[in-house]
Amino acid sequence: MTKHAVIVGAGLGGLECGYILAKNGLRVTVLEHDTQIGGCLQSFRRGNVLFDSGFHYVGGLGEGESLHGLMKYFDLLSLPWVRLDDDCFDEVVIGERSFPFASGHERFAQRLTEYFPSERDGIKKYVECLREVGEHLTDAFFERDLADFYADSFFARSAYDFLQSTITDPLLRQVLSATSLKMELNRDTLPFYVFAQINNSFLQSAWRISGGGQQIADRLEADILKMGGEVRTRATVKQIIETDGVATGVVLSSGELLQADYVICDIHPYEALQLLRDSRHIKKVYRHRIESLQNTFGMFTANIRLKPGSRLYQNRNIYVYPENSDLWDGAANTGQGVMVSFYYGQPALDLLTPMSWQQVERWRNTQAGRRGDDYVEMKQRVVERCLSRVEHRLPQLRDSIDRVFTSTPLTYYHYTLTREGSAYGIRKDWRSPMTTVLTPKTPIPNVLLTGQNLNLHGVLGVSMTSVLTCAELIGIETLREQIRLSEW
Ligand SMILES: Cc1cc2nc3c(=O)[nH]c(=O)nc-3n(C[C@H](O)[C@H](O)[C@H](O)COP(=O)(O)OP(=O)(O)OC[C@H]3O[C@@H](n4cnc5c(N)ncnc54)[C@H](O)[C@@H]3O)c2cc1C
Repeated sequence: MTKHAVIVGAGLGGLECGYILAKNGLRVTVLEHDTQIGGCLQSFRRGNVLFDSGFHYVGGLGEGESLHGLMKYFDLLSLPWVRLDDDCFDEVVIGERSFPFASGHERFAQRLTEYFPSERDGIKKYVECLREVGEHLTDAFFERDLADFYADSFFARSAYDFLQSTITDPLLRQVLSATSLKMELNRDTLPFYVFAQINNSFLQSAWRISGGGQQIADRLEADILKMGGEVRTRATVKQIIETDGVATGVVLSSGELLQADYVICDIHPYEALQLLRDSRHIKKVYRHRIESLQNTFGMFTANIRLKPGSRLYQNRNIYVYPENSDLWDGAANTGQGVMVSFYYGQPALDLLTPMSWQQVERWRNTQAGRRGDDYVEMKQRVVERCLSRVEHRLPQLRDSIDRVFTSTPLTYYHYTLTREGSAYGIRKDWRSPMTTVLTPKTPIPNVLLTGQNLNLHGVLGVSMTSVLTCAELIGIETLREQIRLSEW
């Protein structure tokens, strides 16, 4: 009889697992708590503008690059991707100075060397090390013991130490770190693997999508439906039913019960264990280990709708920092570093800056839209800080604003039940990769984990992890054949 996989959460990880398993003949049901699928990939409309909630750009979509093989497999390459300027896909502004990040490892090194000629060798080494890590992208797939692998890999090296030992000039170190708002720059914890894998993919090539990240989720959903699967929204899973150490189904908040041969959780592992709270097959020590994991900071976003006719679009991202800022303190110094991300073909842009859970926690029990004046004022202050940070680089911005919409870690906490509204999930720690980098397995053999919390976050990391998770059910060799890993 056809096996039934129930997937908790229709974020990128849940949808990709649904896609892989449906393609391999399983009956698939993806259950989503929210009214809309996509999780962090959701887009939302405000007037004539379609904004994104948690997706701005990806790296490595070009042929032979990090993400190409996976996106081809998931049939996502034909989406309207827009390649950012090869000469400068990211611009770093520190104080009054500006530095371009060019696509292609050699070009990237050459352009930066023009600004830091005495660091020629360091830049070369930096680029070579990133490339090397990129070449080891799929190593985890072929390891029998993932936990051992993580302990002995690039995960067990410090990103901060790598940068310190490779680059002498402190300003260049800042520049090389500055586009990394897409991860948590924590000098004590960030593994070299996370820093290098993500940055390497962007050095290959950088792309944004015209018309919203939601298209990624919608395309995956359409394909799952075509293959006979089901995707349901407003379907919150409250419990995984487990008998004698085996999961037999899930219960929804409506009371509905669904039988399952496998349950895959595209949610925070802590929340997955909450769904198994009555299980006696999960040892206290495992629960304690998962409960004690820390989460990365969240993100504050100002989605800015511009006045009609505003011509601010740039085919690059801009990262703006004050002079002498400490990028590696791991703290969400809200408004210090600001990323400017433009929307292709729309009069709009986003300003993003890290925000910690502690900054919003006191409003956690309030309702969206009714959190009180102090919450509104706090958000206004952050918008103001972000605007003043970027205005010397975008002097026309203030006058071009039609309206500003904002989101904080609380937005994610409420809409997608994201633990502590964390932007990138569990904080991986190079000092203890065995405990902070998780494998898909749980103590219940037919309950698996997936998504950004396990291995690496972002579209690249989540897509790799979906393959790792599904490999537990259908075998890595089968998937390798299907995805043609050799292309990576
Ligand atoms: C502000 C921001 C900007 C980002 N920018 C980028 C970027 O530019 N490029 C990039 O590659 N990555 C980016 N990321 C990261 C990327 O979006 C995430 O790594 C990725 O989308 C996470 O996917 P996921 O499937 O692991 O989790 P999620 O997207 O969180 O999906 C989990 C889903 O599970 C659902 N759920 C939770 N509990 C239940 C339950 N009990 N029952 C049913 N459903 C449940 C949630 O509603 C959610 O839809 C960004 C993230 C943020 C927050």
